[in-house]
Amino acid sequence: MGIGFGPPPTLPPMFRVCVYCGSSPGRGERFLEVARELGAALATRGHGLVYGGARVGLMGAVADAALAGGAAVHGVIPHGLVQMEVAHQGLTSLDVVETLHERKARMDTLSHAFVALPGGYGTLEELFEALTWLQLAIHTKPVALLDVDGFYDPLVAHLDRCVAEGFLKPENRALLLRTRSVTECLDAVEAWRAPDRRVWPKRAP
Ligand code: AMP
Repeated sequence: MGIGFGPPPTLPPMFRVCVYCGSSPGRGERFLEVARELGAALATRGHGLVYGGARVGLMGAVADAALAGGAAVHGVIPHGLVQMEVAHQGLTSLDVVETLHERKARMDTLSHAFVALPGGYGTLEELFEALTWLQLAIHTKPVALLDVDGFYDPLVAHLDRCVAEGFLKPENRALLLRTRSVTECLDAVEAWRAPDRRVWPKRAP
């Protein structure tokens, strides 16, 4: 499943997956079910979870399931959200940072891969920052959509439109792994290797 070059990757002893997802549960049970399945699968595979540190919505569901399975769960939350009492109090560790920018930088430092479940503005903003940083080779970690029941069909169609209209290079469009099940998603991020950097844009000196 890796699209890069070179030998298959060797996972670090503690492979930590950063999960972006809704602070809301979404409609019905399905999104919650997949969030719990992802948390449980991270624990089964011996991986750690890094996420936004909240106890609400899909965020709480993935964290609770990972903790229940024995995974190390690291939350990174801005001070303001702690004051709103949305912080999860039962995590392995909770970093309280000052700003959203600090939070994303910290989440990036702690993680080896990024996975986006369904969510709203916050999830989309985090997903696209991770992709933009990958496009610019600021990091070289896998970025995957965990697309529950076609939730992300319109978004993926829009990315194809961006390619068709000349705003997104096909090789950068290909950086986003689109997966449709927890198993496919974790298999994909574990196997991913960064593409040959020769095809990547040169960074400013
Ligand atoms: P959204 O998709 O708009 O619900 O935002 C969810 C994403 O943004 C999560 O991955 C979090 O990192 C961050 N976020 C948004 N709202 C919260 C919240 N109440 N508590 C913690 N993190 C949040």
